[in-house]
Amino acid sequence: MRRIAIVGAGQAGLQLALGLLAQGYHVTLTTNRTGEQIRNGKVMSSQCMFNTSLQTERDLGLNFWEQQCPAVEGIGLTVPHPEQPGERLFSWSARLDRYAQSVDQRLKMPVWMDEFVKRGGELIIQDVGICELETLSLSHDLVLLAAGKGEVVNQFEQDAERSRFSQPQRALALTYVKGMTPVSPFSRVAFNLIPGVGEYFVFPALTTTGPCEIMVFEGIPGGPMDCWQDIKTPQAHLQKSLDIVREYLPWEAERCRDISLTDDQGFLCGRFTPMVRRPVLTLPSGRQVLGMADALVVNDPITGQGSNNAAKCAKVYLQSILDHGDRVFGRSWMEQTFEQYWGYARHVVEWTNSMLLPPPAHVLELLGAASQSQPIASAIANAFDDPRQFAPWWFDAGQCQAFIQTHHQHAA
Ligand SMILES: Cc1cc2nc3c(=O)[nH]c(=O)nc-3n(C[C@H](O)[C@H](O)[C@H](O)COP(=O)(O)OP(=O)(O)OC[C@H]3O[C@@H](n4cnc5c(N)ncnc54)[C@H](O)[C@@H]3O)c2cc1C
Repeated sequence: MRRIAIVGAGQAGLQLALGLLAQGYHVTLTTNRTGEQIRNGKVMSSQCMFNTSLQTERDLGLNFWEQQCPAVEGIGLTVPHPEQPGERLFSWSARLDRYAQSVDQRLKMPVWMDEFVKRGGELIIQDVGICELETLSLSHDLVLLAAGKGEVVNQFEQDAERSRFSQPQRALALTYVKGMTPVSPFSRVAFNLIPGVGEYFVFPALTTTGPCEIMVFEGIPGGPMDCWQDIKTPQAHLQKSLDIVREYLPWEAERCRDISLTDDQGFLCGRFTPMVRRPVLTLPSGRQVLGMADALVVNDPITGQGSNNAAKCAKVYLQSILDHGDRVFGRSWMEQTFEQYWGYARHVVEWTNSMLLPPPAHVLELLGAASQSQPIASAIANAFDDPRQFAPWWFDAGQCQAFIQTHHQHAA
């Protein structure tokens, strides 16, 4: 029986581990927090996942919360008017062809960890560094590092050509709340783009205490929404969240009249640099470790793609491991496996990075045109499930014009 070691019990590591178990592999999953620590700890993400990624979970029988979790049925965008405070410049929304869902990772990961053990996996709680990777690589045919943003992933060399930024591009904050007024006629990721300040989006989810809404703040560094560093208590974090929506987005503030935090750990703030790393780490012994998901390709959450990428990465890696049969997992197999994933992920990176920079004129025109054309709004909303669909019209001014015109002609 082939022996695979995976470090990190997040979306990528657990999903791959459970996929390999189902195929009869011996899997060791080493991670640095117990299920109980995760469940009782702070929120980690807003983890909204679209249909293609949700399907990868369904395929493995891991969609335990599909019936309970509120559906995210669409995506909307509002841009406040720059000269008329309290007014909208434009606003649109469109239904997703298939719903998205967000299950709090504090709820999901401990249950998946239990499921992994139940299905015959070996779970070890340990903080892994180079020394532990050496030990794992001695006793396993393949070692994968899926440690997300853990310190240990800095052992992978940065890929300077594929990394656009050297600094964090947003100050991030999450606020998990209950009591928010839902939007109608369909639930959605309500995305608000405040020029020069940042972005705010909010959508329904399932947390440890039941259904909730997750408020996500993306402040441009040094701007007025980069304001979380001195906030120490859950209540102060909630108050700051309310202050922001009241100041910039009165239509969102309306929805927040009766909100409260879901729990004392339902908030987060921080920042990190979006980055791509080289996929293979050579240990002092000369043995090799392959990275996956956020450990290699970490995006700003502005487009809500990280968990989706992790699920898709797990699917690509699983197939590549199965296809490799009994052969040795050498460097070239590792690089090819990552390149297969990168063939998809590079589109996500390019689109996500473009959202972090001031939008070019053609993107502003496109977003405005979506308020006049439902097919354009629908194309943008549904491309969140597979961001390869944004090419070429999102990136190329000429293609964008043609895209807008075609949809306008159809509408006429
Ligand atoms: C504010 C915010 C909002 C987000 N919103 C979304 C969203 O709406 N949609 C979306 O798709 N994505 C979102 N993401 C991104 C998403 O959460 C991540 O991309 C995803 O969780 C990555 O999965 P992963 O398995 O690669 O890593 P992780 O989920 O980070 O898992 C890493 C695992 O490794 C373990 N670990 C770390 N270091 C070690 C070590 N040294 N030894 C052993 N174990 C270790 C950790 O404990 C953890 O179990 C968001 C992220 C943030 C920060």
